[in-house]
Amino acid sequence: SLPSIPFEDSNVRVAVRARPLIEKEVVDKCQECVSYSADGREVVLGKDRRFTFDHVFCPTTAQEEVYRVCVKPLVESCVAGYNATVIAYGQTGSGKTHTMGSATNPVSGEEDLGILPRAIRQLYESIEERKHEAQFDVREFCVNLQFVKCCFVEIYNEEIKDLLHPDTPSKSISIREDANGDIILAGVKDEAVFTYEDMMRCLEQGSAFRTTGSTLMNQLSSRSHAIFTMNIEQQSLQTLNGHEIISAKFHLVDLAGSERAKRTGAVGMRFKESVTINCGLLALGNVISALGDERKRGQHVPYRESKLTRILQDSLGGNSKTCMIACISTADVNFEETLNTLKYANRARNI
Ligand code: ADP
Ligand code: MG
Repeated sequence: SLPSIPFEDSNVRVAVRARPLIEKEVVDKCQECVSYSADGREVVLGKDRRFTFDHVFCPTTAQEEVYRVCVKPLVESCVAGYNATVIAYGQTGSGKTHTMGSATNPVSGEEDLGILPRAIRQLYESIEERKHEAQFDVREFCVNLQFVKCCFVEIYNEEIKDLLHPDTPSKSISIREDANGDIILAGVKDEAVFTYEDMMRCLEQGSAFRTTGSTLMNQLSSRSHAIFTMNIEQQSLQTLNGHEIISAKFHLVDLAGSERAKRTGAVGMRFKESVTINCGLLALGNVISALGDERKRGQHVPYRESKLTRILQDSLGGNSKTCMIACISTADVNFEETLNTLKYANRARNI
């Protein structure tokens, strides 16, 4: 097995990203109610609700910086053979999708690109570099063969949908654990992706399917979790033990909106939805908190409490690196939800 590599202080990091006021909020004369410490680690909500995180990004922070600080080290460790997960958390409208990014960004200049396209680009760049390295590095066992696959799924009401193969019925998809403790999504078809363009096409297809479904069904996308997974397999041609395969996964997760369902009015389907969303987000918070807390080390980690945490199980904790980016709105009208998000993120990180 691979040696453990620390992510500086911890394998789990929690960042907060505040978005600027959007046009409608400016028109509605909303005020900003969030401020930031100069060291980039503290955020203050209102007068005196103060929270500390690994990183705090203020509204003027560029996409590139969020990527460099939160995600670049994760892609590097993934290419080295370790699993990784990046998660965007927050209420609907807080900037999760903006932060995670998509294949087709209508406003996009290069600087607008979010995490997904940047991570895909970095992955193929590193593969190219490593190919080159392997040819010249005589200490390495010959040449590395790299094989990259991806899949894109959505969890809605504890049902898993294969976004790249929408005809696959959810009933035929199940989460299994193999003898090595690796989590497998049985019934979900991986796509082999040989180039940056191949993987971007998958991202585009899955996102397009998700958006179409969502306009038909009342913004369903804000009430489902989307997980885009890159799987990197590396096989050395010759080692002392014959063929050696190193496999690593990178999950990129755009979570369902964390807002509480209104007490009144949430009945039937909506009520069931809000219960399962809360259940998944609560389970995720519990897992991350258990992983990041020295005092809780060795204790039971409650992965089995939701499909979300079950799918991410082998990529959270252990040698895996995890970064949660809690997205917040700075508008005073969102004070309560912003406070909830900061409390959640704070509990997840325990610092
Ligand atoms: P969510 O996915 O959490 O529902 P979105 O990513 O769709 O939220 O963001 C809501 C709106 O705010 C969008 O119009 C988006 O372009 C804008 N937005 C979010 N984050 C930023 C940011 N950091 N800078 C500028 N605009 C942003
Ligand atoms: Mg979104």
